[in-house]
Amino acid sequence: MIPLKPGKIIGVGRNYLAHALELGNDVPPEPIIFLKPNTALLEPGGVILLPRVSERVEFEAEIGVVLGRRLRHATMEQAEKSIGGFTCVNDVTCRDLQQKDVQWSRAKGFDTFCPVGPRVATGLDWRSLEVRARVNGQERQHAKATDMHFSIPTLIAFISGIMTLEPGDLIATGTPAGTGRLIDGDVVEVEIPGVGVLSNPVRAEDGR
Ligand code: ZN
Repeated sequence: MIPLKPGKIIGVGRNYLAHALELGNDVPPEPIIFLKPNTALLEPGGVILLPRVSERVEFEAEIGVVLGRRLRHATMEQAEKSIGGFTCVNDVTCRDLQQKDVQWSRAKGFDTFCPVGPRVATGLDWRSLEVRARVNGQERQHAKATDMHFSIPTLIAFISGIMTLEPGDLIATGTPAGTGRLIDGDVVEVEIPGVGVLSNPVRAEDGR
């Protein structure tokens, strides 16, 4: 079961310097945001499907923030108080289509491209959070929330200046360095201590 029902899912691009550099970019002067459709949501244990049209699908382990209250033009203090909980997010991305397209709706919008869970944890301080990715048991990403270029309250305040945030909305706060390709048969895990482990198997759509 999917442990949350976000009205919208907002992603953040290049929010860790080391990841921006590995993609050949710098960190942006303002947060880069994008939307992922709700139809991409996938429950813990659900199968990530690699679409035929991409040669390079990558995992992105991220700290997910679930909004606890309605918010518009928030101050940093209001933003911090609006946090309802945290969950693990895998912002699955077709890296080849992302590089080809001007914007990322296709690259990040396929069904099954937003695994979340295993639960929404409350009562955690964002400053203490860490996120890890493992593929087939091998660690590939590890970073602390304090490594982010734009902090979690900064992101929430920034986004609330653009669109009304509503209870249940999900913000995927960006991925650290170490993203990599997924292939048929892999098992990818995202872990946030205090939240749990989000594990999903990977299958190619056409069995390749
Ligand atoms: Zn991402």
